Amino acid sequence: MPEQSPFDLAEGDPFGPHNLPYGVFSTAAAPDRRRLGVRYGRHVLDLSALPSALPPVVRPPHAALLAAPTLNPLLAAGRTVWQEVRAAVRTAVTATEHRPALTPLFHPLDEVTLHLPFEVADYVDFYSSEHHATNVGRIFRPDGAALPPNWKHLPIGYHGRSGTVVVTGTPVVRPNGQRKVPTDAEPTFGPSGRLDIEAEVGFIVGAPSAHTEPVGLGAFRDHVFGVCLVNDWSARDIQAWEYLPLGPFLGKSFATSVSAWITPLDAFDEARTPPPARDFPLLPYLDDSAMEPGGFDIRIEVTVNGEHLSNPPFSAMYWTAAQQLAHMTVNGASLRTGDLFASGTVSGPEPDQLGCLLEITQGKGPYLQDGDEVTLAAWAPGPEGTRIGLGEVTGRVLPAPELGTVPAAAGAGAGSEATTTAPRDGT
Ligand code: CA
Repeated sequence: MPEQSPFDLAEGDPFGPHNLPYGVFSTAAAPDRRRLGVRYGRHVLDLSALPSALPPVVRPPHAALLAAPTLNPLLAAGRTVWQEVRAAVRTAVTATEHRPALTPLFHPLDEVTLHLPFEVADYVDFYSSEHHATNVGRIFRPDGAALPPNWKHLPIGYHGRSGTVVVTGTPVVRPNGQRKVPTDAEPTFGPSGRLDIEAEVGFIVGAPSAHTEPVGLGAFRDHVFGVCLVNDWSARDIQAWEYLPLGPFLGKSFATSVSAWITPLDAFDEARTPPPARDFPLLPYLDDSAMEPGGFDIRIEVTVNGEHLSNPPFSAMYWTAAQQLAHMTVNGASLRTGDLFASGTVSGPEPDQLGCLLEITQGKGPYLQDGDEVTLAAWAPGPEGTRIGLGEVTGRVLPAPELGTVPAAAGAGAGSEATTTAPRDGT
């Protein structure tokens, strides 16, 4: 079979000229050379080589930004530059006269290695689905109110661990930890027995903001570069024991998976949708009633080992990404290029629309087994009936490290076998 031209997209391909997501790739021929790429259909266009391949009149500007090994310099450059580069890339892939020059710049998707596309600065995770928060509240606090009293006044969030954000395809090692479920009399230490997923949508900050200067709702497009999928892996037994009173910690920080492709925010203009009606007027810095619709009609599918699990609808989220951004900076906290903020588990009102196993099994399990592979995929409506695909997020669960490899006492280092002969504190 002759190799398919990169310009011949399959009917309805969700990675067509209206999408053009950015990523970072390397090839087998140059495994140490990370380059920016744009996904087009089943191919990756080498952005680093694009400026020199085109005649000056259509050459993308900002060649230095496109030659970087991560997206961060492009992210930092701001919205005008993002629009100029995107327009130039779209012209390059759609104008037929450039095809001979561009064809050598395409690599088949299955022949490249994809890397984490940006250096993650700060990572914040929200909790913005009313359905998810209500379901989890009923499971974790069966005798209390499902939603805490602040929930409809502000988008609740916490600061996560940016250093363990990993790209799709990275295996996820089951964490060891201190865990206690309600039926346990005492906490025990060992592999999480309740490893779960959380299907979420992530937003990547490009342009930074100044310390002490809040970013208002209307500045969302000036700061947010693009969108990806996020799997916020969660160890429920560790989480349930540790989370009071300061929130998630080790039950979440062992791994967070993101797409290899960052779709520009502008690709979602057709997908904008109003969020659900609010129960009462919000404080002015969160009041989006006069703003452009802040929700996004992004339709997620979760599969486990290739089998359909659920279809969480992002349009059902109570708090929007613009409100989350306004809230996380309203105290003067600044944004940095590469900040990632995730929506919180996306769950809708229907049984087939839940974004984690905790909800799907109503807290009873089963949870993930070693060897299970979880994939999040999603699309949003694009212009003229097209679909905008988000880069999928896949991860396979690997067994927990042997308990003997966990340091058991200060200075013991090598593990439990060594601790039986190593000196202990006070002895
Ligand atoms: Ca989460």
